[in-house]
Amino acid sequence: MAKKAFKSESKRLLDMMIHSIYTHKEIFLRELVSNASDSIDKLYYIALTDDNITFNKDDYYIRIETDEKNRTLTISDTGIGMSKEELEENLGTIAKSGSFDFKSDLEHEEDHDIIGQFGVGFYSAFMVADKVTVISKKYGEEDAYKWESEGADGYTVTKSAKDEVGTKIILTLKSNADEENYDEFLSEYTIRRIIKKYSDYIRYPIKMMVKKSRPKPGTEGEGKTPEYEDYFEDETLNSMVPIWRKNKSELKDEDYNNFYKEKFFDYDNPAAVIHTSADGITSYKALMFLPARAPYDYYSKDFEKGLALYANGVLIMDKCADLLPDCFSFVKGLVDSADLSLNISREMLQHDRQLQIIAKNLQKKIKSELIKLMKDDRETYEKFYSGFGRQLKFSVYNEFGREKELVQDLILFYSIKEKKLVSLKEYIEKMPEDQKFIYYACGESNEKIEKLPQTELVKDKGYDILCFTDDIDEFAIKMLGKYEEKEFKSVSSGDLGFETEAKQEESEENKEIFLFMKDALGDKVKDVKASTRLKSHPVCITSGGELSIEMEKVLNSMPA
Ligand code: ADP
Ligand code: MG
Repeated sequence: MAKKAFKSESKRLLDMMIHSIYTHKEIFLRELVSNASDSIDKLYYIALTDDNITFNKDDYYIRIETDEKNRTLTISDTGIGMSKEELEENLGTIAKSGSFDFKSDLEHEEDHDIIGQFGVGFYSAFMVADKVTVISKKYGEEDAYKWESEGADGYTVTKSAKDEVGTKIILTLKSNADEENYDEFLSEYTIRRIIKKYSDYIRYPIKMMVKKSRPKPGTEGEGKTPEYEDYFEDETLNSMVPIWRKNKSELKDEDYNNFYKEKFFDYDNPAAVIHTSADGITSYKALMFLPARAPYDYYSKDFEKGLALYANGVLIMDKCADLLPDCFSFVKGLVDSADLSLNISREMLQHDRQLQIIAKNLQKKIKSELIKLMKDDRETYEKFYSGFGRQLKFSVYNEFGREKELVQDLILFYSIKEKKLVSLKEYIEKMPEDQKFIYYACGESNEKIEKLPQTELVKDKGYDILCFTDDIDEFAIKMLGKYEEKEFKSVSSGDLGFETEAKQEESEENKEIFLFMKDALGDKVKDVKASTRLKSHPVCITSGGELSIEMEKVLNSMPA
């Protein structure tokens, strides 16, 4: 039978998987188990929300089987299954989730980076198998179908037989080569270890027949040496308690990190973990993560914010945007609440009071965690800030400043005096008694700003200056207006806000030359006069109005 070709993008990913030198090949099991769990979620959801269906919790499970002789590893689920079209669509085409942007320079990236960074999904099976067979029967349909592929040259879909609704994935493991031992994926010990490591929290039992040993009847007793016999027993390998329902004391950093990396497709550990719960009028458990760095699409329109939303342990939405304000759009995580209805629709959620209360609480929590991180682990905070600081600053003036309360304590600027990043609070705390304003200077880089003639007088007064090198910095503080009653002042503004000697005389004395200069410069300047702000530099440019020179530059560069 003629093989169908994979879509070209899928083929590239597949090629990568087949030739993978990635050292953590074991994640293929995590991916397949997570797909199985997703598919059960879908069916479970239908069963819970449709009164016409009765369901039995015991009917939902994942099973792992090995066959040493044929070198196969089988993962089956009692989930929703796939129709013929879905087999083609879902397995012949790379997930449309956009987790993989092929327009980016994929070829230049290291193979293992890609694999670790994204949820590579189903195709990861090809890291360990040279043949993958998927037999599936979709819920509500008569026929079952078989999808089969031996790699990049294509796949076939044929009619098949299967009694139960669900999916069965059979991997024929690769032969052991040089450094690789694929046989280990047939070992109960290895499978047990991988499931514990990545999939312990999966809500459905992951079952396997395991070999056990017991004394032979009649060989036990005083004075006898018992003889043992092997027998098989069905065992559930995972604890099934979702990590967010466990006690913090039971959990190690590693547990959180593994969960985060697996669930949110990051290959770095998170910068911070927020595990919190509330009981009372509104009860919920939330597990949130601050990524250590921005995902590749963070500053693009493709990025979707949101927390996963569970109603009493059942996933009802992958990304609930209403749970996160824009300023904290980088937060990953989930909320599980007993107070939400399973049938709640997206539209209803927006107006749900419980949800709004939860969202408010979480905002506060995220803010306080970030402040704590800033104080207790500055290095990590600054690393985090280098990725998300722009978003925080942007949020000061985004949404008409509605989020500024949340972010004003979190933004950092480079301080000329301290020679490091400081928060506005830290700046204010170190202000001399007589200083009235928060001074800043705009420029391309901290080094260039430090050399600006306009900074000299302010420095001489013993006042610190914040360097604004990002084009949004000045907009942000203009929106802020003031911080703890202190207004911001640009070192280039006409009035620096402290006494300087009158230079009226000098202007008079040099009237001639100033007139000449103004004439020569024409429209380029408004006025030429003796400056009160220069020390070692002969001349500087000042802006007369509200906007600083830097800000005008930004405005002028914007398309009309
Ligand atoms: P993702 O899980 O991110 O969507 P995958 O590559 O892991 O991407 O899977 C692709 C798609 O194939 C899934 O979205 C799902 O529709 C389908 N799929 C994979 N495994 C199963 C399964 N065991 N049961 C039903 N559908 C599945
Ligand atoms: Mg998947």
